[in-house]
Order: sequence, then C-alpha cells, then structure tokens
Amino acid sequence: MIPGTRLYKIYEKLPAPLQSLLVSTYGSVLRRRRYGAEHRRFLDGLKESYSWPLDQIREWQWQKLQGVVRHAYANVPYYRETWGKLDFHPEDLKTMADFEKLPVTEKQALRDDPWKFVVDRYREDRSAVFTGHTSGTTGKPLMMIKDKNTYQRTWAFQERQRWYWGLDRDRPRVSLHNRPVVPVEKKTPPFWQYNGADKQWMFSNVHLEEANLKHYLDKMVEIDPEEVLGFASALDVLAEYAIRTGYDKLRPKVIVTFAEQVYDFQRDHLSQAFGCPVADQYGSAEVVVWAGQCPSGTYHVNHEIGYFETLVDDQPVRGQVGEVVGTGFINEVQVLVRYRIGDLATLSTGAGDCACGWQTDHLESLSGRMDDVLYAPDGRPVGRLDPIARGLPGVRECQIVQDDRAHLTVNLVAQDEPLDEAIRVVTERLHSFFGSEMRIDCSWVEEIPRTAAGKFRYQLNTWKKKAPASGDSGAANSSRGEETLS
Ligand SMILES: [Zn+2]
Repeated sequence: MIPGTRLYKIYEKLPAPLQSLLVSTYGSVLRRRRYGAEHRRFLDGLKESYSWPLDQIREWQWQKLQGVVRHAYANVPYYRETWGKLDFHPEDLKTMADFEKLPVTEKQALRDDPWKFVVDRYREDRSAVFTGHTSGTTGKPLMMIKDKNTYQRTWAFQERQRWYWGLDRDRPRVSLHNRPVVPVEKKTPPFWQYNGADKQWMFSNVHLEEANLKHYLDKMVEIDPEEVLGFASALDVLAEYAIRTGYDKLRPKVIVTFAEQVYDFQRDHLSQAFGCPVADQYGSAEVVVWAGQCPSGTYHVNHEIGYFETLVDDQPVRGQVGEVVGTGFINEVQVLVRYRIGDLATLSTGAGDCACGWQTDHLESLSGRMDDVLYAPDGRPVGRLDPIARGLPGVRECQIVQDDRAHLTVNLVAQDEPLDEAIRVVTERLHSFFGSEMRIDCSWVEEIPRTAAGKFRYQLNTWKKKAPASGDSGAANSSRGEETLS
C-alpha cells in the first residue's frame, strides 16, 4: 500500500482490527499474483538449473540471448527501429562478440517511451499486461510493463534464495522496509502489522525512534523468525541499539537486505547484533539482473533472469568496476537488451569457485549508483567510503554529499549530544580519501531524509547531477530492487 493513494487514505482512518484485516486481504491478493502456477513451474526449473555446470549455463545463455534478439527484432518497435538503422539483422548474430557490438539501451529511452519496448501484440491489446512505476525521486518515474508470468517468475528468485539458505517457508518472517503499515502519527505500539496470507510481520520504518526500539526487538523475539528482511539502514538502527544496550535475544538464521547498498559497517553491526550472517540481494525493478549472497558470502549472479555484463566505455570488462548492463530473459512483454541500469559493480574474472558449490559468475563488489560516485577535486573517482562512517564517536547516522567539485557537505545525526571529536575524525578521514584541497563542512541535523522509496543514501552527488556535461545516465531514480521484494 502506498501513502497518498486513495486506498491508503481509507486504511489510515480505520480502527486497528480493520487495518489488520485489510493488510491480510491485500496480502492474499498479492500472494495469488506472485505465487501461482507459473511461479511454481519456474521455481522448480530454478532448483534444477542451480546444479548446472558453468559450461552448460554459458551455452544456455547463448541460446537464450539469440532468442531474445530474434524476439526483439521481430516484435519490439524500439529494437526494430534502432537495429534497423544500423542495418543489423538477427542472422548477423553468430558469436558473443557480435552480441557485444549491439548498442547499449539507455534508461532515458525507456523513460521517454516505455511502450516502445513492448511487444506489438501487447501494445495492441493491453488487457493482459499491467504497469508498475518506480518511485522516481527526481524526474519522471520509470514505467515497467509486465504480464502475470513475468511477475510470478520474478518472485521465484527470492524463493530460490530461501531454499538454498535452507529456510522454512512456513515459519513467520519479519520485514522492515518502506511499507507504511502504521500511520506515522501513532506514538505507542504496535508499530507492526501481520499479513497472515504470507506469514509476514511487517514493521514500520517510520517509527524507529529510540523510545520505540525495544518494543520492536521484543516483538521480533516473540515472533522468533528465521529470516529478518529489510533495508540495511533501517535494520542498522535496531542493530546499533541492540549492541549499545546489550540486547542479545533476537537470533534469526539470516538477515536479508535488499534495495540499498549495504556498507561494511552496517554488515558488521547486523552480524554482531543478531549473531547471524547477512544475505544481501541485488536486483532491479526492470528484472534484467539478480544476484544474491549464499552462506559463503558470495554474490551469485542468477543467470536465469538475464545476461549480466559490466562495461567500461561500453566495452565488457571483468575484475574491475564497470557499469551494470542487463539483457532480460523473463519479461516477454517489455523487452530490454543490453540495458544500462545505472549501477556500478565488479564482475568476477573467474567463476564457479564458491565453497557452496554453486557454479555461477559472481560479483566481487557492488559500488552503488553511477550518479552517486564522488570525485576528488583532481577528477579521480573515489571508491567505497565505508571506512568514513565506521565507529564515529557519538554519531548515529552520517551522509556525505558532494555539492561542488571541491566541496563536501557532511550531515551528521548525533547519538546524544553533538561531539566536536566526531567532526574532527570525519574531516580527517575524508581528507585522506579526497586530498586536502577538498573543502568539508559538517553539520548536525535532526534527521537525514529518506528517498521517496524510503531508502537511505549514504553518499550522494548533487554536483554531478547539476552538471549538464555528465549527461543523463538516468540513474537519478535508480530502481534497485524496488519491485523484487516486499
Ligand atoms: Zn556460494
């Protein structure tokens, strides 16, 4: 349910028992949509292809890519037009090198005309498709167009992750992300709702104030879930509190994070507070890529959802940071070939060497959104900034904003009283990353606002977004994982 919609306005005014009933009814509608016959069939397939050797995966993907290219050329106006101008014909596709010569599809093209990526017959008869939008923190949101099968297949990747972690699907789960299940004005517990249809306890992410945190943890202990899933930034608020107060009763089997980049300091907090590993998931609303961490910590690229590439200067690379580009396999309605998502990642040079035995490509790192890379004044991109926020004295939250070529604004939320020591440490650390020419202003703020999708942004580049020369990579409203989970 989305705040501001008519349904949510009705929901907000209902007495608690009716809210609960509505959540479960809505949950059962979603459950039917997600977990139907195609979901089960597809999930069975995923459990089988999980054990394929790498050469079988490569061969399968090559066949699949050829099929997608033929389908796109024959049925999708955008590709018919774009490739037609290049005089490219699917019969020209003889090797992977041919595929890698196809132009990259930019997010802006999808944003400008989402129906141009839709197969002719679904454009003519729209009754079998439904549309969804990303939140669009800036600019126009992206419109995703899918049919029931796409939707059901999408949810199978999450289910396979549960399966290979050995989680019991019948045990209740706890989730903490951007579901506004409790009106924001509410001052006393419960700050959660139960979706009986999916055995899911949904906790509010807008009531995470100090005074409420013990209620959250006590309730989660009472539920005793194997799986706690949510945004790393929201779960980190609980983790930090648990560590600080010595609360050690919440012991799930795994913490599942998605939709935001997980920083090492958050991962350390979460493991320490809840005594279990973190399984992060990486996906995109366009359902062209999906990767999830196994119990050995490896990000396995799920080859069945699409073909995953990382590019530098539009050339495929491995073993170094590149722009994520995906060719989707599961959406036969809205087709995306070599689609630039707007995120940065490092694809492994080797593959298939994980201790868990699953042979796939994997991600050596996820480096966030292209738009939010920060630059030193000499133009050098600065990599992951995790160490800046690690163990800052008296700091609950920290956000680094580059608002000019040689200027950073750091927003800090104090744990109790603002400490000068924190400003000294953060400035020193930032200078070691950016050089002494970088001017740094730290300020204490009451809170750091979340995006429209409820995501926390640890680093943010508003300077590059202002500069027209950077072009519109379209990642300003990165859609990471927004639709891959709830
Ligand atoms: Zn593994």
